[in-house]
Amino acid sequence: MIDKCDNNNLINPNWAKHGYIQVYTGNGKGKTTASLGLAMRALGRCWKVLIIMFTKGGDDYGELNSFMNLSESIKNNLTIVQAGLDRIVYSNNKSASDEIEIKKGWELAKKAISNDEYNLIILDEANIAIDLKILDVNEVIEVLKNKPADMEIVLTGRNAHPKIIEIAHLVSKIEPVKHYWDTGIAARKGIEY
Ligand code: ATP
Ligand code: MG
Repeated sequence: MIDKCDNNNLINPNWAKHGYIQVYTGNGKGKTTASLGLAMRALGRCWKVLIIMFTKGGDDYGELNSFMNLSESIKNNLTIVQAGLDRIVYSNNKSASDEIEIKKGWELAKKAISNDEYNLIILDEANIAIDLKILDVNEVIEVLKNKPADMEIVLTGRNAHPKIIEIAHLVSKIEPVKHYWDTGIAARKGIEY
C-alpha cells in the first residue's frame, strides 16, 4: 500500500491561512465521533493532530484501539492525551482528581497551541470541562484567540458556553430527534465507546 504521508506532502502551500475554531455541541449523538472522523481525515493529509480527551480516562475506547494500529507514519503525526478519570463526571460527582486531570490536559493544550506544534487540535469534551467550571472560559478564550493563524481547533461537548460560541467560526449543534438512550439503552461498545 502506498503511504501518502511518506512524501512529506503537508498542507497545500497555496491555501490562504485557514485555521478556524470549530464547536460541536448539542444534546444529540455524534459530537465526539464527528471530531474523530475529522482527525482521520486530517491525518490522511499528513497533518499533525493532537486529541485531548477531557474527562475521559481508562483504555476502554474503540477509537484508542484503532489509533494504536494506524500505520507508523500516521501514528507519528498523532498524539492522544487522556485528561480524566475512568468514569463519567457530572457536576454532582466531580472530584479534586477530575480537576487535576482536566487541568493537566489544559496545560498541555496551551503549550501545544502556543508552540504551534500541530495543524489540528481536538479538545474533546472541553465544553463539559468549562461547563463544570473546571476550566475558566475566559482563559480558554484568550488562548483560542491567540492561536497560530493556520491551526484548526475543535471543541466538543454539550452546553458550549456562549462566549465560546461567539468566538468560534463554525458551530454545529446536534439536536436529538430520537435517541435509544431514552428507551433505556445504555452506551454500547463499538458505537458509543
Ligand atoms: P459520540 O461519542 O457517540 O459521538 P457525543 O460525543 O455526541 O457522542 P456525549 O454528549 O459526549 O455524546 O455523550 C456521551 C455518552 O453519554 C453517550 O454516548 C451516552 O451513552 C451517554 N449519555 C448520557 N446521558 C445521555 C442522554 N441524555 N442522551 C444521550 N446520551 C447520553
Ligand atoms: Mg462526546
